[in-house]
Amino acid sequence: MKTPVFVTAAALLLAPCLLAQKAAQPQPSPGEASLMGAVSADSMRGDVSFLASDLLEGRDTPSRGLEIAAEYLASQFRAMGMKPAGTDGYFQIAEYAVVQPVTEGFTLTLESAAAKYGVKAEKVMVTAMKAAQGAALEVVQIDLAGELPARAAVEGKAALLKSPGRMTREAMRKREQVRAMGPAVVISFTPYLSGRPQLRQAGAVEAAAAPSIAIQDSELQKQLDGAGALKASFQIPAPVMEPAKLKNVVAVLEGTGPVLKNQYIILSGHYDHTGVNPRGEGDRIMNGANDDASGTSVVLEIARAFVKTGVKPKRSIVFALWFGEEKGLFGSTYYAENPVFPLKDTVAMVNFEHMGRTDGDEGSTLGRMSLTGIDYTEIGQFMADAGRVVGIDVYKHEKNSDLFFSRSDNQPFADAGVPAHAVLGCYIFPDYHRPGDEWHKLDYDNMARLTRVAAVAALRMANRAKPPAWNAANPRTAQYVKASQELYGSK
Ligand SMILES: [Zn+2]
Repeated sequence: MKTPVFVTAAALLLAPCLLAQKAAQPQPSPGEASLMGAVSADSMRGDVSFLASDLLEGRDTPSRGLEIAAEYLASQFRAMGMKPAGTDGYFQIAEYAVVQPVTEGFTLTLESAAAKYGVKAEKVMVTAMKAAQGAALEVVQIDLAGELPARAAVEGKAALLKSPGRMTREAMRKREQVRAMGPAVVISFTPYLSGRPQLRQAGAVEAAAAPSIAIQDSELQKQLDGAGALKASFQIPAPVMEPAKLKNVVAVLEGTGPVLKNQYIILSGHYDHTGVNPRGEGDRIMNGANDDASGTSVVLEIARAFVKTGVKPKRSIVFALWFGEEKGLFGSTYYAENPVFPLKDTVAMVNFEHMGRTDGDEGSTLGRMSLTGIDYTEIGQFMADAGRVVGIDVYKHEKNSDLFFSRSDNQPFADAGVPAHAVLGCYIFPDYHRPGDEWHKLDYDNMARLTRVAAVAALRMANRAKPPAWNAANPRTAQYVKASQELYGSK
């Protein structure tokens, strides 16, 4: 478009105003400026176009595409000369099993004084690592909304769980607690069934947990509610199991502070996606370019910026890329349970999601960035301040900021007490979890600007004497503040 002459005159008149705006924009320190200069949109376009290519088949956990992606990430860290921080080079190996329940031979009968209820195999989802059976067991009813009974009340019996409608994270955690109390079986009701194979940790904890049977039958649920005392008999055939070695990809940039170098900031993203849609026609590959090849690339690019510029943070920075987020935060949960660097020395965690698309469901997010739980810790303020340096508006989404806090890989770290968030370019976007989430739809220039914000904020968090704190004034942080006091002690 041609610029009319009068606009030029208007621009001259506006000049002092622009000048004033410029002065209001805080200037980066020399280290921050060189980090900002080192972040390249093309570099990230390269990462995302490979990770989200059809050949990687949507990076399902586990899959060959995921393996190739992990190898790519390791090769990128290797090319930077970044120090490996896995259990096998850059890989933190996690032993899992893909478990496919066997329905043939499955039986479950619940019996009251007045009636006998048989439950069909096609109405259940079984979770079990081996065959199991029981006859005429006493049924203990447990309300997951209340206090759990003592182990002695549950051991050797059939635990029947009452859950508050849809299973919350809290309810799932309680269900796992009940499974660990030594009941013969755990029975619950579920609104929907999945016949897909399940991903389970292959360790001793899972092997020792009681088998569980989730029933999809609201009619039966109502009948049992008023049925009085119950007895349960069941037979669970051994499942078909296939071992899967899964990999978080982890590297570390060691800090230079004599004391602070023993403290860690994690920057992360998940490199898996949802694979190939078994149904549907035409393009069935869920490429996961924005979700979350974009966040994965942001992590790589910040690492590259530090290496290229030689800028040295005082605290150490851990670059971590997770498997299995889409299957239920598996990679990040594994790390939080088996941390490479102690969690008590991990002072912050920033996880990147959806960093490339600017055509969010609620309109353009160009030049804008958000955090989940933005006012839960000081990290939101770090990002907002860095945003002003770069010229990016870091904002609170009134609904999604809270709503999405538990929906990404920051959650297991927050649960452990570590100040942890997801940073996003947009929340929901048109191709979210669809085959259309492809690499050419991302705005890489905007993504580079968001990455500059994150790099500046990471450097500041790494250098400030005091680590970022939880905001205890926000009532939503209560459980995290408590966990953080247990994790860090009085530090
Ligand atoms: Zn994601």
